[in-house]
Amino acid sequence: MRRLTADRPILSMTSELGRVMAAARAREQAGERVIHLERGEPDFDTPAHITEALATAARAGETHYPDARGTLSLRQALVEKLGRENGIHCEPDDVVVTSGGTHALFIAFQVLLSPGDELLVLSPHWMAVPKLVALAHGARYRTLPAYLDLHQEQLTPAAFADRLRAALRPETRGVYVNTPNNPTGAVLTRAQLEAIAQVARERDLWVVSDEAYEHLLFDGAAHVSIASLPGMAERTVSVYTFSKTYAMTGWRVGYMVSPPELRPSVGPLLNFYTTHGVFPSVQSAARAAITGSQQEAEAMRREYQQRRDLLLAGLAGQSAIRVPVPRGAFYAFPDVSAALAGRDIWELVDEWLSFGVAVLPGTAFGPEYGTRVRMSLATRREDVVEGARRLRDHVSARVAARA
Ligand code: PMP
Repeated sequence: MRRLTADRPILSMTSELGRVMAAARAREQAGERVIHLERGEPDFDTPAHITEALATAARAGETHYPDARGTLSLRQALVEKLGRENGIHCEPDDVVVTSGGTHALFIAFQVLLSPGDELLVLSPHWMAVPKLVALAHGARYRTLPAYLDLHQEQLTPAAFADRLRAALRPETRGVYVNTPNNPTGAVLTRAQLEAIAQVARERDLWVVSDEAYEHLLFDGAAHVSIASLPGMAERTVSVYTFSKTYAMTGWRVGYMVSPPELRPSVGPLLNFYTTHGVFPSVQSAARAAITGSQQEAEAMRREYQQRRDLLLAGLAGQSAIRVPVPRGAFYAFPDVSAALAGRDIWELVDEWLSFGVAVLPGTAFGPEYGTRVRMSLATRREDVVEGARRLRDHVSARVAARA
């Protein structure tokens, strides 16, 4: 038979999230109540002043083809924000507006990775990253465990720099860093980022810095942008999104800042090959998001922190589910080895679904994480509490029965 599709790795990659969501949906259709801890989608509405700005802009006729790089007025506002909040000093021509952070990562990988190049992905990592690398023809990725050890301070910055150096190969072109981290909730410190920066400078590497959760910080943790460290702006592509801070996932708007040398490559990619820009009215609303009141964004951040506290309290003392305390983003990435008792992680995910708790297997975030699961806090408080209760009842009972 004629081959149906192209021979392209991305076409045969599977989605762990898709599998869990389908299984959860089937149970719900059968009348069961499922607690959704699998999905990383803010459950809040976008703040009203942002939605109003969209309506006003659309009525004022901001409905035509945009400059594919983004409107000048949003890029100017972003330059101001990047300088003030991130310590990244750039020109409007170094910032481009993208269809969310995902599109910005896609662009970054397209611009930086040639066939045969490798991206070293600090892990555990957001599950879309391997797919986005696969879209860069002939590029590969390899994972390097980082966040859990750094988070629990089991590794000094100097020892981490050595781990990084040892992992590099001649074909390694860059490192993908994500802080605050999805899925661990780790927030890298300045000293830890300086260790990465040092190796990047030494070995002339690019850094792709994914800062999607830059505002979701707990317990007074501080976000540091690696591009603000000495000698890093010229070798870093920094990626941001409105999705998480402002609960704007459906709006598909994010941005990327890169050194001036990349201008001739980034512009054409946006113009010719992808979405040809973001709806101009959405860009006006995005501008309103960053220039207007941050009160609602702050209220959402506080709510995530409270949900985190409820999850930790609900699972306190459960030796079968050991949660490293998240300091940012809205996930937890517990070690479930004791509950697993040697089984495959999918068996545990299916077992938990059987009593109505949906989580993702750790292997979605890197091959090394077959004894962990990701739980998302982007769900109502009552569900976080109920999810923890079900886990306490079922998992602890099973572990006790085995002992
Ligand atoms: N980076 C990370 C680490 C993420 O978790 C996400 C969304 N889950 C994104 C980037 C991209 O989000 P979006 O495309 O909605 O901006």
